[in-house]
Amino acid sequence: MLQKTIVERLNEEIDALQDRINLIQAQCSHPLIVRQTENKGDTGNWDRGQDSYWTTHVCPLCELRWDTDQNWERTGDGRGMPKKRDT
Ligand SMILES: [Zn+2]
Repeated sequence: MLQKTIVERLNEEIDALQDRINLIQAQCSHPLIVRQTENKGDTGNWDRGQDSYWTTHVCPLCELRWDTDQNWERTGDGRGMPKKRDT
C-alpha cells in the first residue's frame, strides 16, 4: 500500500480545518449589531428585466459572507440569515 504524499496529508488537514470553520459559522448567530450589510445592484442592462438588487451581509465574528434579497429586514425570514452553508 502506497504511503500518502505530503500533499495528500496537507489536503486532509485543510479539509479538517474547513470543517471546523463550517461548524463555527453554523453555530454563529451573525448578530445584527456587528453585521455589515451593503445594498448592491446590477442595473442599466439593455433588458431592464435583467436588472437585479441584493444585500451582501458580512459577519465579522465568523467571516461568513452571504447575499439576500434587499427586503430581508421586512420579510422577516430569519432577519436575513443565510439559507445555504456555502453562500
Ligand atoms: Zn457569524
